[in-house]
Amino acid sequence: MQKYYVEKVKNYVGGEFTLSSSREWMPVTNPATGDKIGDVPQGTTADVDAAVAAAKKAFPAWREVPAPVRARYLFDLRNLMEKHYDELLSICTQEHGKTFEESKGDVRRGIDNVETAAGIPMMMMGDCLEQVATGIDCISFRQPMGVFGVIAPYNFPSMVPLWFVPYAIATGNTVVVKPSEQVPFSQYRLFELIHELKLPPGVVNMVNGGKDVVNGILDHKDIAGVSFVGSSPVAEHVAKRCAATGKRYQALGGAKNFTLVMDDCDWEKSIANIVDSAFGCAGQRCLATSIAVGVGASAYKKLEEQILARAKQIKVGNGHDAGVTMGPVVSARHKERVLAYIEKGIAEGAKLLLDGRNCKVDGHPNGHFIGPTVFAGVTPEMTIGHEEIFGPVLSLMEARDIGHAIAMAKAHPLANASSIYTSNGAHARKFTHEIDAAMVGVNIGVAAPMAYFTFGGSKGSFFGDLKAHGRESIAFYTQNKTAIQRWW
Ligand code: NAD
Repeated sequence: MQKYYVEKVKNYVGGEFTLSSSREWMPVTNPATGDKIGDVPQGTTADVDAAVAAAKKAFPAWREVPAPVRARYLFDLRNLMEKHYDELLSICTQEHGKTFEESKGDVRRGIDNVETAAGIPMMMMGDCLEQVATGIDCISFRQPMGVFGVIAPYNFPSMVPLWFVPYAIATGNTVVVKPSEQVPFSQYRLFELIHELKLPPGVVNMVNGGKDVVNGILDHKDIAGVSFVGSSPVAEHVAKRCAATGKRYQALGGAKNFTLVMDDCDWEKSIANIVDSAFGCAGQRCLATSIAVGVGASAYKKLEEQILARAKQIKVGNGHDAGVTMGPVVSARHKERVLAYIEKGIAEGAKLLLDGRNCKVDGHPNGHFIGPTVFAGVTPEMTIGHEEIFGPVLSLMEARDIGHAIAMAKAHPLANASSIYTSNGAHARKFTHEIDAAMVGVNIGVAAPMAYFTFGGSKGSFFGDLKAHGRESIAFYTQNKTAIQRWW
């Protein structure tokens, strides 16, 4: 492993790396070791103003660049990411803590989106009807809108900004990206690669920082729209502020994902899948199973026994080390938050089947490790039964029948992802038809739509109209124009 260290993370404005105007810097540490790996600025509205000005200046010329030529920059970016793939994986693991294998998912899914957006000449096509009236043709086409802001969470440092940036620039817009201040390095390295593309200055910009930068983006009069991913309270804040300032927005929020386990499922494969979903990335995935519901007494009993046996096999450690299947959570603060949920679960009467509170990893006294934790007998009224924990804590619930289990999931205000394990097509069909979650798995633990399908939840997990990637993304970053033409 090559140790990554950046003395001061810079912004990227108008094609150059620049220092933030902020005097406040925050240390960023490797969650497995506690070692400092660099400093990130708090970021200021002046930083946002500079980046937006550069993006605004670049827009008129960039929108005139033909779509196939814009796409070629993305082919080049894809090739550069492949060339530096291992390095990108290592940076991701160092700053986030996820295992090297999990970082492959993070970086690869980012590349998928770059590749998909490179198909923009086909994806951006409009509609046409010749002879809409006698001698009159009608064409409808999509045009870029200007500057877009992209605001990211910490849990997929490499991938999430790439859910947006490739489509935004491929459609002819310019962007300002704000990475998570907890994990700024994957984006910093990506921007070094972007710099090699020799894009016209200002097409892609980056401002580091926290909520001042976010609010600077939300309030900026020269920003046309915002793509946000993070927790639901902040997603709602983004939505309200964008609405107040007349911007488009797509704000992907938090999750409390239910998984239904029917007695007729393939138990061995299903349990392996559920455990991976719940504890992969130390539970810090917006598609992670948070609650597994055994449907019927027999299924519930098997669920308890088999989840416990499988979860005990997880090997916690530094994500860079071979054989490790679960890394630390992102920070000491987040570890405290997750531990507080575990205490609450115990206090409110859930049965602690597997206790991850005193997890120690040899040679890593300062890592933010929590072992896999499993609660049985959880009810929706308990705090752990309804709040998003975002850590390696799985709650088991029992339902009378499939209708009861679906009703439990639907009663929750968040509806990001949900899965069912069954070998019965009628159960699968009923679940898929009735569940509110917008990303649905049938014998799939992490129901993550690929780049060419729409990504995003529903109810309190999503604010906006048009979701991420796929065709909706193209609609989000463009506006429709219809021309009705008659030539005398
Ligand atoms: P977060 O909401 O704390 O932060 C997200 C972004 O908002 C960061 O860039 C942060 O700097 C900024 N921010 C934080 N607090 C703010 C405030 N008060 N005002 C303005 N900006 C603020 O989220 P996180 O902890 O980085 O990420 C985890 C959350 O993201 C979880 O809730 C998870 O479910 C969610 N998530 C959702 C999806 C999805 O597809 N729906 C994907 C990944 C993560």
